[in-house]
Amino acid sequence: MSVNQQAHAGPPYGQPQPGYQGYQQPAYGGQPLPGVPHSQYGAYNGPMPGYQQPVPPQGYFPSLGFPSKGSPVSLNSDTSLAPNFIGSLRAPPTSGAPTPASGASLPSGHLAYSQFGQGDVQNGIPTSAAPMQRPPASQPFLPGSAPSPVSQASAFQQYGPPAAGVQQLSNHMAGMTIGSAAAAAPPPAGLGYGTPTSVPPVSGSFSAAGSGLYTPYTASQGPPPSVTQGLPLAQSPFPGQPMPAQRLPAPVPGFPPPPSSAGLGPSSYPPTTVAPRPPAMPGPPAAGPPAAQPNHVSSPPPPSAMAGPPPGPPMSGLHGPPPPTHPPQPGYQMQQNGSFGQVRGPQPNYGGGYPGTPHYGTQPGPPPPPKRLDPDSIPSPQLNELPPQQKPRHRIDPDAIPSPIQVIEDDRSNRGSEPFVTGVRGQVPPLVTTNFLVKDQGNASPRYIRCTSYNVPCTSDMAKQSQVPLAAVIKPLAALPPEETLPYLVDHGESGPVRCNRCKAYMCPFMQFIEGGRRFQCCFCSCVTEVPPHYFQHLDHTGKRVDFYDRPELSLGSYEFLATVDYCKNNKFPSPPAFIFMIDVSYNAVKSGLVRLVCEELKSLLDYLPREGNMEESAIRVGFVTYNKVLHFYNVKSSLAQPQMMVVSDVADMFVPLLDGFLVNVNESRTVIASLLDQIPEMFADTRETETVFAPVIQAGLEALKAAECAGKLFIFHTSLPIAEAPGKLKNRDDKKLISTDKEKTLFQPQTSFYNNLAKDCVAQGCCVDLFLFPNQYLDVATLGVVTYQTGGSIYKYAYFQLETDQDRFLNDLRRDVQKEVGFDAVMRVRTSTGIRATDFFGAFYMSNTTDVEMAGLDCDKTITVEFKHDDKLSEDSGALLQCALLYTSCAGQRRLRIHNLSLNCCTQLADLYRNCETDTLINYLAKYAYRGVLSSPVKAVRDALISQCAQILACYRKNCASPSSAGQLILPECMKLLPVYLNCVLKSDVLQPGPEVTTDDRAYIRQLVTSMDVAETNVFFYPRLLPLTKADVDSDSLPAAIRNSEERLSKGDIYLLENGLNIFLWVGVNVQQGLIQNLFGVSSFSQISNTLSTLPVLENPFSKKVRSIISMLQMQRSRYMKLIIVKQEDKLEMLFKHFLVEDKSLSGGASYVDFLCHMHKEIRQLLS
Ligand SMILES: [Zn+2]
Repeated sequence: MSVNQQAHAGPPYGQPQPGYQGYQQPAYGGQPLPGVPHSQYGAYNGPMPGYQQPVPPQGYFPSLGFPSKGSPVSLNSDTSLAPNFIGSLRAPPTSGAPTPASGASLPSGHLAYSQFGQGDVQNGIPTSAAPMQRPPASQPFLPGSAPSPVSQASAFQQYGPPAAGVQQLSNHMAGMTIGSAAAAAPPPAGLGYGTPTSVPPVSGSFSAAGSGLYTPYTASQGPPPSVTQGLPLAQSPFPGQPMPAQRLPAPVPGFPPPPSSAGLGPSSYPPTTVAPRPPAMPGPPAAGPPAAQPNHVSSPPPPSAMAGPPPGPPMSGLHGPPPPTHPPQPGYQMQQNGSFGQVRGPQPNYGGGYPGTPHYGTQPGPPPPPKRLDPDSIPSPQLNELPPQQKPRHRIDPDAIPSPIQVIEDDRSNRGSEPFVTGVRGQVPPLVTTNFLVKDQGNASPRYIRCTSYNVPCTSDMAKQSQVPLAAVIKPLAALPPEETLPYLVDHGESGPVRCNRCKAYMCPFMQFIEGGRRFQCCFCSCVTEVPPHYFQHLDHTGKRVDFYDRPELSLGSYEFLATVDYCKNNKFPSPPAFIFMIDVSYNAVKSGLVRLVCEELKSLLDYLPREGNMEESAIRVGFVTYNKVLHFYNVKSSLAQPQMMVVSDVADMFVPLLDGFLVNVNESRTVIASLLDQIPEMFADTRETETVFAPVIQAGLEALKAAECAGKLFIFHTSLPIAEAPGKLKNRDDKKLISTDKEKTLFQPQTSFYNNLAKDCVAQGCCVDLFLFPNQYLDVATLGVVTYQTGGSIYKYAYFQLETDQDRFLNDLRRDVQKEVGFDAVMRVRTSTGIRATDFFGAFYMSNTTDVEMAGLDCDKTITVEFKHDDKLSEDSGALLQCALLYTSCAGQRRLRIHNLSLNCCTQLADLYRNCETDTLINYLAKYAYRGVLSSPVKAVRDALISQCAQILACYRKNCASPSSAGQLILPECMKLLPVYLNCVLKSDVLQPGPEVTTDDRAYIRQLVTSMDVAETNVFFYPRLLPLTKADVDSDSLPAAIRNSEERLSKGDIYLLENGLNIFLWVGVNVQQGLIQNLFGVSSFSQISNTLSTLPVLENPFSKKVRSIISMLQMQRSRYMKLIIVKQEDKLEMLFKHFLVEDKSLSGGASYVDFLCHMHKEIRQLLS
């Protein structure tokens, strides 16, 4: 069968569900649910009238998310001839290259705050739109007595409907304090409130562009710390940044631990046995939680699994001679690129072709050739103890097949030293594992956009023939290292940004000015648009505007526009957003110490809310709710002596019992908030309530934001399956027997559509939901995560949460989550030049039409992967252009547009496509595609489709681009030579091939995380980084060179670190020298090392310092805090560790790299024959 004849497979996971036209993201909510009318996915007519725009001229799509100006020409628009992007603050234009302001000068755009004063411009929207409040079914809190549902019900009856009742009630409640005894003592001065929130502006302005927040790194260190680097929040006390005064004593690695947590040892908590355990309480398993709890694996595999490797896939029994091999050749020789088909050494059987499949796995072949011994590799005892027939039979020298480590190292040495300058169309950037600086000269930095290929086939036929997906992984608010400049903010005044009349694309470097500068031709749709008078500028002799280098939107790939009121909901500038903290106070949460921990942490963390670069304090208001079966709202108005609690027991129809005093400014209400946070743990210390509600909690937050007419974020700390009688109530439907059946997909689907509808309401309000889960058993992440997912929120899971071992991880995650940059009420649109268009989207968001990606919140870590398809021919001359426009509200309530532009080359030769691909990005796309596929197709079908697509990609290369050679040779394109090894990692990941230790919640959780990952994150997640520590140079800042993820690379005499972005393991060999053990652990022998440590002891010797600094550096690089797990060789935890040695055969049946490569070769040969 010839590759050419392969029909384009289309979506290999089946046809789109019929009910979802227009709804491009079946990920969550895309699932057909019984009894749910399809209309729920119909056009969304949410309360966003401000987004409507006049009916556009025919022939183009309405720009729903980005209304155009009625008339961009304004009489007083002369002022915007001198936009706030002031030339004087920039270096004078020099020839050739734009010279953005140096790091030390202000990106002047951020001075443009006068615009914000337009908040009083309204288009007839009445301000008195405060929703009618129903009277709360509230009651005073009686110390020591749990709220009684009966009395609440009667309390609710007392209040009549009149709105006036609210005020009366407030007054009534004002006399009621929360437990006089508990409330009596004012918070001690030292509780963390000594310092005003007006934290000295460390880097006051945006000038430092990330301002010292960036952990210094050297070229020889690991991947670019793009994940954690340079949050542009001037106040974010990242390590490496000067800390605001006395607030943050020298932090432990990771996030700035506010002082309050320092004293929060386990000892400061009351014994957890105080509260009697109610009989109905579902508790942790009798065996207790595992000693070390990795981020997503819930328990070590059962011992029985260790008896021997389960049967592998068919190719694992390969007996026929595999393809000949030779080391991958560096350089760029097309035919030989990645080819490793030649004979390696004295291996006579390798010269010929593949003898075909009859021998494949059926009978013992000739004795395997001697395996080349790697001096570094000392086989572990386990391997030696295996019966001979179970030893890996390596027909192929593992050193002769493409090595991820080699590719990473080569790219680092070749491309890590020079800045990546974005002035050239279609340039492939350095790998995500290479540290490099970016100079924006007209295309967006790869930190914002990466593509699967930088050379797009000109025709749809060519694209289908290659099967290479065309996709871009976009991280619109990515953090930058301090050396790089944040996007400038351009203010065009009342007239707003200049846009194409037809397609509404924003002014960008690729627009062509004509007729002496009076008009411009759109680079996306070719329409000619008049230049507004205020924007007119003469052209120089080359046709370039003379102000080219003075305007970011003409010379840079990324920039921001200040949005006018037309871009705001209801034609009204937004209010600053709010954060609402919602704490589960049921028995489990209290008993584990979680409630106390959260309250203590918030006392200091609230001083670090995100703020605009040049503002002294955060504009974000805060509110507090606690809940179990009922909800408790708190009035923390600054004028109160004590906080007041209002209980809402009618969870069936949630409302917010108070408006005034619920959302407050932290500084103004400091004392009341501190008092509240002191009292909450006491109030519920003796609770016996084990049941919780969940949906009403989100509804409460949503209603509160609606009432306050603002966007915001809910931080929900939740422990259990919500089984209490309430909307969104769930049942335990976990069933591992469904694995590998056609019904497996239901495990990933939400069990009710309730949360999809709730998510839709949340997105309409700009209510983003972040979820911190602390389960001791199944809590249905697939359902609880729906709202988080569709609102662009983050989910964190801490199974079997134990204060002693897990608080570091939780607190670091929480600190980062609260402080990180986030845009609210966001809408993203990706425009493309004629010929291709965005057809599919992957990530955490909601879509109500086919083009606009809506996110209640979008933070600096979130990525959206966009797939493109041809709808016409492209030309090599004009190339292909992408423009990503993100409309969002900043943390201070400023409405902005962030624009990223990228130009790609187009090709008529397949070889050009394969020469300009990026495998890491391809894997990001394929993983997200497959992880969405499991919602609607059997997992095996998803795996098979992945293999088939990749085999077609590689076969097409072999057929069309490689020089004729023996069929026995496997020839891979240089840029894709790691495709097989990485693909195998995706195939054997927990979502697609779970081992016995992986729970249903783990899989749903991982699925959700991966869907928002950027390329660097998927890269290390699927192929973890493994560092030999005894080879580390204690005198330098550099990391030891990584090694490949295989057990045979481990030496018994060494110590290794392995990290994948979620977990970090320290593996200690049995033969490690005593001196090293003493230096690292402070004990005298291997047997004395405790595997329950989650940090290494602080010892004053170079090796200990070096190892601890590497660990903390890795922890800081990642967007989630990785808890350290100590693994001793031959200890039971080693099974967990081996799960991450992804080049080896896995316990769950995943193939080894070598076996999988042979399998891929077979697939390719079948396609070619
Ligand atoms: Zn256009």
